Amino acid sequence: SMASPALLMRVVASAYSVAEKAATIVRNIMSAGDLGIVEKTGANDLQTKADRLVQMSICSSLARKFPKVTIIGEEELPTDEVTEELIEDGHCEEILKKTCPAQYTGIKEEELVIWVDPLDGTKEYTEGLLDHVTVLIGIAYGGKAIAGVINQPYYNYEAGADAVLGRTIWGVLGLGAFGFQLTEAPAGKHIIVTTRSHSSTLVNDCISALNPDHVIRVGGAGNKIIQLIEGKASAYVFASPGCKKWDTCAPEAILHAVGGKITDIHGNSFQYNKEVKHMNSAGVLATLRNYDYYASRIPNTVKQSLVP
Ligand code: AMP
Ligand code: MG
Ligand code: MG
Repeated sequence: SMASPALLMRVVASAYSVAEKAATIVRNIMSAGDLGIVEKTGANDLQTKADRLVQMSICSSLARKFPKVTIIGEEELPTDEVTEELIEDGHCEEILKKTCPAQYTGIKEEELVIWVDPLDGTKEYTEGLLDHVTVLIGIAYGGKAIAGVINQPYYNYEAGADAVLGRTIWGVLGLGAFGFQLTEAPAGKHIIVTTRSHSSTLVNDCISALNPDHVIRVGGAGNKIIQLIEGKASAYVFASPGCKKWDTCAPEAILHAVGGKITDIHGNSFQYNKEVKHMNSAGVLATLRNYDYYASRIPNTVKQSLVP
């Protein structure tokens, strides 16, 4: 008989279904109309009822199936028992049919760290920029982001009633990424995607120094990586602290699975072991192709302002 699927593939297959449940919660809370907005560190750092319920749903659902995995979520929440209606116990059969890359077949539960951003782009969610929102589940092993799921609950929401609302993108290093059409950005054009709600003089000075043809300002780290892998932008540049490990883990795994690269502004790779500092203090630089072009043009003055 067939050997049972490797743990990593079972975790990704479950994370896929858990992220779809999360998307339903995100849409239902918006439809119901009471977002329950709370300021965390300030007006540009918000938490809604969706951030809270989705984190409880994702973390409890995964912890039930994989009790020895370390799960780190963005939101600080009381550790109440969650209601059964928030639990998702399904998985994606298509993912279980794929072969786990050989280097990951021996992974044990206690060696995995899952980084959860229940709702990335909360500021934009509260402002009705719905397709900026993603649900991020990143899976790390040995300090590296090796697999990830990005759900975009409002993908296609302006495409008319016939379009399927929402999508789930997933990937594993060494296997590839699925659920979207990999597309290169226009050749010879420098299109930079960056923050819309967390800008600063440094963020803007860094972008100006790269002399872009066009700048796209949108919310969400997940959304910006989608812009890279679908050829809408050639580089994600964010010369500021503010982005955290749960923002970059799933996007990093998917970007790296298709040959892209993400680092801080100095070119240091991110670490995702459970003890790591949450803040990506030295910003973000990511591309699908031509990483060196952008990395070599980040001004030293910008680098000196961002201590890792
Ligand atoms: P943005 O590109 O502004 O949407 O940021 C990407 C991710 O990093 C989101 O989860 C933001 O909430 C987070 N982030 C970036 N800068 C800040 C900041 N100054 N304060 C709080 N969160 C931030
Ligand atoms: Mg986020
Ligand atoms: Mg969030």
